[in-house]
Amino acid sequence: DVEVVLVGRSNVGKSTLMRELTGHDFSTGKKPGVTRQPNHFDWASESFMFTDLPGFGFMSGVETDQREAIKTDIVRYVEEHADAIVAGVLVLDGKSAVDIIDRHTERGEIPHDVEMFEFLVDVGIDPIVAVNKTDKIDDLDGRLDAIADRLGLYPPWQQWSGTIAPICAKRGEIDPLRACLRDRFHEHKRDDLL
Ligand code: GDP
Repeated sequence: DVEVVLVGRSNVGKSTLMRELTGHDFSTGKKPGVTRQPNHFDWASESFMFTDLPGFGFMSGVETDQREAIKTDIVRYVEEHADAIVAGVLVLDGKSAVDIIDRHTERGEIPHDVEMFEFLVDVGIDPIVAVNKTDKIDDLDGRLDAIADRLGLYPPWQQWSGTIAPICAKRGEIDPLRACLRDRFHEHKRDDLL
């Protein structure tokens, strides 16, 4: 089975996005940030699977030991499924991501979104960045440039149209993400033929 993993802080819209992508409602009983096991969902029309990885490193009220344990679980999961995983999607709240990243950077901390982006790269998954809640953003191009910059992707963001996907999950406007995913699927199939 081919698999897509989703990561992102609580409340950025992962559940909403998964519902749009899969047609399944899986929000019931979900505790953001504290789910230990990845959840699997089939993508209706394709034999792909979406995995909503638990967030890590930013769980309020979760002890450092437990955070490390969760992170270790995720690393193990990704390593075990490395052959199947064709894409990793980092979901951001486009309205607040830059402010939050900058606040952490000013405190000398590694911002969680940056940490997750680099984590995906480290484990060999070329990340797709789904910038959600575009309906709340006035200067979209400026904001997307700033997000690209914070992730070490040299602006303008349009140079990264295969990586950065502005979406509005709430309204079902996710075509840029579908396009990015389709590219990764095709790359994966070509790789299989080599
Ligand atoms: P999760 O914790 O990452 O799974 O986030 P949810 O999917 O539960 O969404 C968190 C909140 O953000 C909910 O109130 C959603 O309705 C809202 N939300 C999700 N997508 C969008 C969007 O595109 N625009 C706006 N304005 N709100 C959204």
